[in-house]
Amino acid sequence: MTTVIDCVAIGEDLMKELVKETEELKAKGITPGIATLLVGDDFGSKMYRGQVEKFCLEAGFNYFNENPPADATEDDVVEIVKKLNANPEVSGILPLRPFPEQISDTVVINSIDVNKDIDCFHPFNMGKLAMNEVTFPPATPAAVYEILERYARDVEKLDPKDFFEGAEIVVVGHSNIVGKPVAFLALNRNANTTVSHVFTSMKGNLEKHTTGADILIVAAGKADLIGPDQVKEGAIVIDVGINRVKVVDENGQPVLNDKGKQKTKTVGDVSFDAVKDKTKAITPVPGGVGSVTNRMLMKNALKACKMANGLL
Ligand code: NAD
Repeated sequence: MTTVIDCVAIGEDLMKELVKETEELKAKGITPGIATLLVGDDFGSKMYRGQVEKFCLEAGFNYFNENPPADATEDDVVEIVKKLNANPEVSGILPLRPFPEQISDTVVINSIDVNKDIDCFHPFNMGKLAMNEVTFPPATPAAVYEILERYARDVEKLDPKDFFEGAEIVVVGHSNIVGKPVAFLALNRNANTTVSHVFTSMKGNLEKHTTGADILIVAAGKADLIGPDQVKEGAIVIDVGINRVKVVDENGQPVLNDKGKQKTKTVGDVSFDAVKDKTKAITPVPGGVGSVTNRMLMKNALKACKMANGLL
């Protein structure tokens, strides 16, 4: 029997825990706060900013919106970061990328106070993550392990330590923001960790690695990259990918909406319907890892707030 992991419920549970902890902090006169930094008006970043603002409101956090114009200089943006670094009401700073061309990601990220770097963008914190030292694990990779740990405890009735140690974890994707930190977190849990990526596929070797996985974590951004042939019977599959694809009917013809435009839908990297029955457990898309990611960011902000106030 396959377990389709209810990530929406996990996200809701986490939010309840966040609200409770925030109330306890507020009773001590302390309110956590998140500042987003968006330069210009990139559509995807604006959507993400809106979600962060909504979750801050829901959890009782303060929210700060910094939005210099698209023609702001690098110095202007670094000055904003310095102001946020110095503001005790701001527990965490979240730069929303892409930045406009004239602004270097590295310069802005390196100017963030490492104790307010709640999505682990700073190389100092990424280094700590790689060395298994206390830091702010980046939100999406942290969400993957929050989901797996809850699954281990609640469904398999296993201590997460025993669940991960020696397990074959295969990560598909090696980006700095998802694939690599997912792999560091697997190694930190003593899993036997393999990282595959686009060059693995180009050599025709993807299936060789993914079919060895007890736990397969896919973050490639390619719809239908993983079908039943790429998955071992009884594997646990975590699909991080988010892709917008066109909807077609059974004859491969476009399905149109009321306005005569082709319908689209959100899918992951795993062909869910074809793979599901082969797995022991799987996360869906939508309603998967993304339902937990923002809550992990807020958990990091709460941790930063406690650290700043000498409570951790
Ligand atoms: P990215 O483009 O930076 O990296 C993609 C990775 O996938 C690369 O390492 C690349 O080598 C690998 N890859 C690409 N094609 C491949 C192939 N054919 N075979 C094997 N590997 C292949 O993307 P990213 O920022 O790491 O994001 C990955 C996916 O995760 C995207 O779909 C993104 O939208 C999604 N994402 C989801 C969340 C969430 O909360 N659910 C958060 C962040 C990113």
